Amino acid sequence: KTFADLGVSPELCAACTSLGFKNPTDIQVESIPPALAGNDIIGIAQTGSGKTAAFTLPILQNLWENPQPFYALILAPTRELADQISKQVSALGAPIGVRSAVIVGGMDMMSQSIALSKRPHVIVATPGRLMDHLENTKGFSLKALKYLVLDEADRLLDLDFGPIIDKLLKVIPKERNTFLFSATLSTKVEKLKRASLNKPVQVKV
Ligand code: AMP
Repeated sequence: KTFADLGVSPELCAACTSLGFKNPTDIQVESIPPALAGNDIIGIAQTGSGKTAAFTLPILQNLWENPQPFYALILAPTRELADQISKQVSALGAPIGVRSAVIVGGMDMMSQSIALSKRPHVIVATPGRLMDHLENTKGFSLKALKYLVLDEADRLLDLDFGPIIDKLLKVIPKERNTFLFSATLSTKVEKLKRASLNKPVQVKV
């Protein structure tokens, strides 16, 4: 199969080619069509499977049809993972003019506030710092959010981000799509799945 076979737009197929992605990986083949069709997704997949592009491509494709600031929030357990995701979002999204920001702990709050004031389309964040900005950065809200991604959900929960995620789920729109990716499906992940996803399509590779 090709990315075009999955319904990926010509602009984003070109972005994949320029990153050296010839054919979609299994998780991409399974996730992209239902995600493009508007379904929530729970993906059981490891790092290295191509899961980042599996959730990023459908988000970028829908964003392209309706460009809007604060369109998608991708939550990751660590700064390193957030940086990696952000690199892929930029690489795939730059050709279509996507603006993104990385909001992680241990970095300067003020420069992040400035990045948020530029109204990025996509935010890649660790949960604690994201909540800090929601509470303290004037003019920043996620009222218009269309997509939430919980990446490496098992690690997010192991690092005790559960309470912050619960709080976040209360302040973001119910009318949104959610993609949850996890290497394992533990009891805690099942609980988060029930709290955050609506009739998800389950994908396992
Ligand atoms: P991930 O599992 O999202 O961390 O991706 C692992 C690596 O695979 C990243 O370096 C991606 O750039 C790369 N990758 C993702 N999708 C593809 C693809 N369809 N073909 C080749 N490489 C890919």
